[in-house]
Amino acid sequence: VIRRILVPTDFSDSARQALDWASTLAREFKAEILLLHVVENLTVGYASDLFPVPMAEVYEEISGYARTELAKLAEELRTSGVAVTERLAQGTPSAEIIRIAKEETVDLIVVGSHGKGLLDHALFGSTTERVVRKAPCPVLTCRPPKSGGKA
Ligand code: ATP
Ligand code: MN
Repeated sequence: VIRRILVPTDFSDSARQALDWASTLAREFKAEILLLHVVENLTVGYASDLFPVPMAEVYEEISGYARTELAKLAEELRTSGVAVTERLAQGTPSAEIIRIAKEETVDLIVVGSHGKGLLDHALFGSTTERVVRKAPCPVLTCRPPKSGGKA
């Protein structure tokens, strides 16, 4: 039985496709969707003592944006009759996705094959590759519409 479906999103087209599939499955199985975004740990890069970046503020800004986007997607799903819980986490996306999949005992993970990264010649993006390797449950990977077509 599929009761809980975890859909991790980075707000890319591919993740959007994953969410659409998940919502079809959720309606079919009367399952609940756990919609997750992971805010990646900020790498300090060129910030230095000379140019101190207020990291807590930057994190708040990014989290606020993510919360708004998650709420929009969740509202859309609820309108179509699907039960949704939003989750915001911080850390390495693949590790957080696996952690929450275990913690929340989800029955299925639906992800995009790729995300916002540029390396789309690889079979999967690095987050999805790690999730497929380590997931405690089946993983459904979805390609964005435009990458479909001839083999
Ligand atoms: P890479 O990150 O290796 O450059 P990419 O961005 O193209 O490649 P992934 O990061 O693997 O590909 O993204 C694939 C899918 O993983 C996305 O469609 C989304 O479902 C999920 N995902 C990626 N990043 C996050 C995140 N920060 N939070 C939640 N889900 C994510
Ligand atoms: Mn990515």
